[in-house]
Amino acid sequence: MAEKIIAYRFDCLDQTLSQLNKENCAIIAGGTDVMVMYKSRRGVPPKIPKPIVFIDHLSELKKVYQNQKDLHIGACCTYSELLGNPLIPIVLKKAIKTIAAPAIRNRGTLGGNVCNASPAGDTLPLLYVYNAKLLLRSVKGDRIVPISDFIQGVRRIQRESNEILVEIILPSVLDDGAHVIFEKVGNRNADAIAKVGFAGYIRLNGDGIEDVRFAFGAVGPTMIRSVAIEKMLLGRTVPLTDSDIAQVVAAFDKIIKPIDDQRSTALYRKTVALNLLRYFLSMKQYQPT
Ligand SMILES: Cc1cc2nc3c(=O)[nH]c(=O)nc-3n(C[C@H](O)[C@H](O)[C@H](O)COP(=O)(O)OP(=O)(O)OC[C@H]3O[C@@H](n4cnc5c(N)ncnc54)[C@H](O)[C@@H]3O)c2cc1C
Repeated sequence: MAEKIIAYRFDCLDQTLSQLNKENCAIIAGGTDVMVMYKSRRGVPPKIPKPIVFIDHLSELKKVYQNQKDLHIGACCTYSELLGNPLIPIVLKKAIKTIAAPAIRNRGTLGGNVCNASPAGDTLPLLYVYNAKLLLRSVKGDRIVPISDFIQGVRRIQRESNEILVEIILPSVLDDGAHVIFEKVGNRNADAIAKVGFAGYIRLNGDGIEDVRFAFGAVGPTMIRSVAIEKMLLGRTVPLTDSDIAQVVAAFDKIIKPIDDQRSTALYRKTVALNLLRYFLSMKQYQPT
């Protein structure tokens, strides 16, 4: 007989936070990672070692709104909901369309992808180049943390047990004139875990580079981003020279250290990651005509 477990499903966020403050619970949003994490044998219910608390139905976690140029995305918005929302940047929708298949996209949430902190989380490269900030709430109040501080390693996040991720905030994402790309290399176009993920962001003033950012997924314990390398390109003009591009590629070559696993080899991952960087740096689409 299946063991009984305690499960909570409160009507509002405040009640949920108050329970989390009293008891260490496993949070379940869409459950698409949690159910896999605790799975046992076929036909046997997953063994979750703590009481569980459902949050996917909470309206406070499902809002998407604009605040000046910032975009606020509720942590429990499912991928399917985000695909249907006109405020969501097209490039983020492109990344979402590579995630799993529609059934998982109907359940999986953006907040779940962040809190699961997988090196292959497909929304993460873009969230890193957007300098995403995370709004966390507990009974003690709110705090806002940059995503790069929140995610500390493979499935390691800086969340207190009484906190819930409420919003993912993309600062200045609306109308900032940047050219942003996302590329994922996997065994097929969707429904495959990434071998390599890449996001690039560039904003020009005339032909001068005003801002540029890169993030690589699935080639390290978490997203690889280097503000120091990005700074090397500030003020340079496009089209970049071959030597500018070679300098940036060489710098990333030193810090990208992928591993071999069942999905790919370290050599393949590194080669593809650097090729994607070269491709982005020489793209014609954002260059002045
Ligand atoms: C068949 C299959 C295919 C998949 N394919 C892909 C893929 O191609 N790309 C990809 O990136 N992922 C993929 N995933 C993983 C998964 O679907 C995503 O990571 C998804 O975004 C997880 O969201 P969720 O709401 O289901 O998270 P859950 O499973 O509910 O939660 C994940 C983790 O985050 C915590 N959590 C969730 N929401 C919050 C919150 N608001 N506050 C605090 N903690 C929270 C949970 O406690 C848990 O630790 C796949 C999963 C499956 C089963």
